[in-house]
Amino acid sequence: MSDRLNLSDHPITRLKLTTLRNKETPNETFRTALHELSVILVSEAVQRLGRVLKIVQRPVETPLGQADGFYLESKVVLVPILRAGLGMLEAGKLFFSDAEVCPIGLRRDEKTFEITCYREVIPSEPPDIAIILDPMIATGASGVVAINLVKKWKARHIVYVAVLAAPFGISQIHTAHEDVPIFLGKLDRGLNDKNYIVPGLGDAGDRQFGQPTH
Ligand code: URA
Repeated sequence: MSDRLNLSDHPITRLKLTTLRNKETPNETFRTALHELSVILVSEAVQRLGRVLKIVQRPVETPLGQADGFYLESKVVLVPILRAGLGMLEAGKLFFSDAEVCPIGLRRDEKTFEITCYREVIPSEPPDIAIILDPMIATGASGVVAINLVKKWKARHIVYVAVLAAPFGISQIHTAHEDVPIFLGKLDRGLNDKNYIVPGLGDAGDRQFGQPTH
């Protein structure tokens, strides 16, 4: 396994994944578990990003005196992939409350399998760090396109945060973008004939937003 793939080793990850996988989990509980797991995964990514985050030191006045203060100067952009990535956005905001949010909407042509972009919010200036939020890496096709777009924004560093992936999807992303580390909850067995991750959790968008599961 590549060291560009960072599998979560947090003890709570398995518990949250179990809630997400369970087909009986109601939508609201699913959304909560996705948020909680995303906090863990984004935190693991941020830990790694520590080396490239620009943090300046300036004193802070407490009610009782002066202490060391630290302030983020990097421009961070959060990139939820619509629509399922929206469920990971608040986790990103917990760490980077001032981050610009630049969603990307991608659609796949069911005949040609070509991925086209139907929505792209371009950041106001090139980001120092772009964090792509996308719960499921199945074939990796939309991940590759999303990273292509973010690279066009001239992002200096890109990380990809996902909950579950199929090995094929990971290899597709790493073949196209070897410089992008992936922070992942769990690597699953593979894909079914509809390109859903198995055993997976079903459709991450439908599970959050109320449609029946697949
Ligand atoms: N997207 C999903 O939501 N689920 C999958 O299993 C694959 C892609």
